[in-house]
Amino acid sequence: MKTIDDNKESTEDKSPVSNFIRFIIDKDLAAGKHQKIVTRFPPEPNGYLHIGHAKSISLNFGIARDYQGACHLRFDDTNPTAEDVEYVDSIMEDVRWLGFDWQDKLFYASDYFEQLYAYAELLIKDGKAFVCDQTPIEVREYRGTLTVPGKPSPYRDRSIEENLDLFRRMKAGEFEEGTKSLRAKIDMNSPNLNMRDPVIYRIKKAEHHRTGNTWVIYPMYDYTHCISDAIEGITHSICTLEFEDHRPLYDWCLDQLPVACHPQQIEFARLNLGYTVMSKRKLLELVEGNYVNGWDDPRMPTIAGMRRRGYPPEAIREFCDRIGVAKAASIVDFGLLQFCVRENLNRNANRIMVVLDPLKVTIENYPNDYEEMLEAENNPENPDAGSRNVPFAKTIYIDRDDFAENPPKGWFRMTPDNEVRLKHAYYIRCKEIIKDQSGSIVELICTYDPESRGGGTADGRKVKGTIHWVSAKHAIPIEVRNYDQLFTLHNTAETDPGKDYKEYMNPDSLITLTNSLAEPCIIDAKIGDRFQFMRQGYYCVDLDSSEDKMVFNRILTLKDSWSKLQNKQ
Ligand code: ATP
Ligand code: MG
Repeated sequence: MKTIDDNKESTEDKSPVSNFIRFIIDKDLAAGKHQKIVTRFPPEPNGYLHIGHAKSISLNFGIARDYQGACHLRFDDTNPTAEDVEYVDSIMEDVRWLGFDWQDKLFYASDYFEQLYAYAELLIKDGKAFVCDQTPIEVREYRGTLTVPGKPSPYRDRSIEENLDLFRRMKAGEFEEGTKSLRAKIDMNSPNLNMRDPVIYRIKKAEHHRTGNTWVIYPMYDYTHCISDAIEGITHSICTLEFEDHRPLYDWCLDQLPVACHPQQIEFARLNLGYTVMSKRKLLELVEGNYVNGWDDPRMPTIAGMRRRGYPPEAIREFCDRIGVAKAASIVDFGLLQFCVRENLNRNANRIMVVLDPLKVTIENYPNDYEEMLEAENNPENPDAGSRNVPFAKTIYIDRDDFAENPPKGWFRMTPDNEVRLKHAYYIRCKEIIKDQSGSIVELICTYDPESRGGGTADGRKVKGTIHWVSAKHAIPIEVRNYDQLFTLHNTAETDPGKDYKEYMNPDSLITLTNSLAEPCIIDAKIGDRFQFMRQGYYCVDLDSSEDKMVFNRILTLKDSWSKLQNKQ
């Protein structure tokens, strides 16, 4: 079996939808502030990317594409204890799979550790930073709150010489973690807590995945990020709303230092999606607690999970374009993502017949030992998809759900009296029901009308129901994994008091069927190929498939059952 087909299409196929960030860029270009637009996507390699990151990726790379600029991929790797090369690799794979390309613009904040350190000494020499001996708990206590002003650290007025000496000794590894930090000297009375002498360097005696044991002090995010942006000549540093209060610190750092440019930080609302969680902490908890089968579990909102589930990258990009960019936080209906996926697959996925829960049907008037090939179109939405031959013979299987001995009103599928059409084949009629000792139906004896080959008869008689089937002799046994939402709660941030979000996990988020039967054409499918199982849903070949058994993931059902459910609530 081959590996996942990454199914790239051009990302330049659509005219861009404007938003307030593009307005700012247009204005800056018109005013001659910039000649070339440079953005960046700055993940911390401490987890796998999720659909929220896809929004940020498509925003930043999309702007670079549409303005003929550049978008840098920069790993924000300043916290060695949480980070790992596994995450670095997965992030690169995911960005590429989404259809974006950073060209040669791959950077790591850790590449700037020397420069960041030199700038920190500069701040000290300018009297704008000091070494503080307070413990992290004391720092927090002294910081105050929104209503209580901060108190200055007793170490705030150390001399420049003493600060330089201590900072160099911090770097040399003379002090233990938590005993000292370097803090910016700004304003302990600022209404903005981030400006109350924030810590910009901490001692961390941890091996870094890129710099090894070179460093025992690591710069903090707020200090690192703005300087990294400036070093790379980023014009617009786009981040999520929670960094709005950090913007004064972003600007303060750059104003103190001899950097070549001063990028503009712009905030937008992060994406939240219904029926799932998006924080890396929670996703990590689901993985480590074995609530799911890894980061690429098809139920996870990670890019890796969605790829494995079978979501096409174009559909994810389409979703990101449709949700747009705003300042106000909201939860996007999962149905919108599914709509984008369904629309894509309706155009692109070939139809095949698969019987999920087989019920044997013997056609008594069909010749013994005879078989024939019936032509079936691959995709009515796409004539270019061509057709295939489906074998037909005396014994077939239909889905158990398609037969009712005592049908409810309005039932058009098979019953003891009704004639139904077998898709691409013949009309058949049930003559006899065979049951086992416990009363379960094990087989139907039917007759067929040889005149109805291909789905019509000379007398023009109509049948209301059309069902799918497979030939018993030719069918291929497959495993089917029917996935559904991981959580039963639309807003997983709003749990009942005292309840953990994990208590809302959907017990039916994975239902495995091991007896399903597919028509023989699937034998050629490779991992990642997507199909519509007629009348059932869209499915994709999972990487657990082996020569012995193919495994299919349900990407989604044919109809949107969740949004309807939500509207009823
Ligand atoms: P978490 O807070 O869950 O740990 P994060 O935001 O810290 O996630 P990063 O790796 O720092 O994760 O994110 C990289 C980029 O992706 C950042 O610019 C961040 O603003 C953006 N991003 C993260 N989550 C979302 C989201 N849900 N919607 C839009 N952008 C996001
Ligand atoms: Mg972050």
